[in-house]
Amino acid sequence: MFDLLKIKAKQQKLLEGKQLFDVEISSRCNKICSVCPRHAFTRKKTDMSVQIFDALLQWLPMECHVMFAGFGEPLLNNDIFACIRKIKSIKPQISISIYTNGILLNNNTIKKLLDCGLDWIQLSVTDEEGFVIAQRTLEFLSSTDQSDILRINVLYRDDDDFCRLKEKVSHLFPDTIKQFYFKKIHNRGGALYNYDYREELKTCGTFFMDTFIDVEGNIQICSNDINGINKIANIQEMTFAQLVKMKENFLGNIQISPLCKKCSDEYRVRHFNEV
Ligand code: SF4
Repeated sequence: MFDLLKIKAKQQKLLEGKQLFDVEISSRCNKICSVCPRHAFTRKKTDMSVQIFDALLQWLPMECHVMFAGFGEPLLNNDIFACIRKIKSIKPQISISIYTNGILLNNNTIKKLLDCGLDWIQLSVTDEEGFVIAQRTLEFLSSTDQSDILRINVLYRDDDDFCRLKEKVSHLFPDTIKQFYFKKIHNRGGALYNYDYREELKTCGTFFMDTFIDVEGNIQICSNDINGINKIANIQEMTFAQLVKMKENFLGNIQISPLCKKCSDEYRVRHFNEV
């Protein structure tokens, strides 16, 4: 039996804590990954315009974390460097990271991103190409004594896959193993595959600490809603304070949207349990 008061208290704590914004600076992509339901993606494939980004920057709270992520590759938007600079000059308390497949990540790009003020790089490794990119990125960052800013997410399917990949990482990267994180592939709200309902995944912390802003400035209910079917509003129509009020109405809920019943994302519980 779930203790709804306990759930509400934890969700409230997450909502009052530092907020994370997944900003989809590009919805175009340069890779087909087995872990991403791009085949079902029907939203506009484009880059976030300067006007939308500027409006978003005004909209964001003074202190939060922005992660350039979403259903596209952030480095495809050439404005990303200027965007990072703008954030750091207008709202310097905001920390910034990118979540990238790394194809466009070379020494010059890394240097430029860091010069602009980027705080962290998150690299997604889903195949052999990902390991090659991880190796060259680590080599460069280690040579400049900055390897701590890199987090390498290795995605695995099941327990066997986890053991195989862990062994591979220990063998290939014995000195930098602490940079690696292993993440179980989830079904993106049912878009990737169906899953058997699990009682322990019944609640969600993600919604209360994370907001997905898509390439057109729409506030989506969750980054798992790939086509924005349950869109909340556009940033032009709702302030951040109004969004927080709206989220307060969901405190104590174990399901946020129709997607939640189909969602196998274990992070929803991990975030919840961290407070
Ligand atoms: S349960 Fe899953 S789909 Fe629902 S809001 Fe949380 S992360 Fe998103």
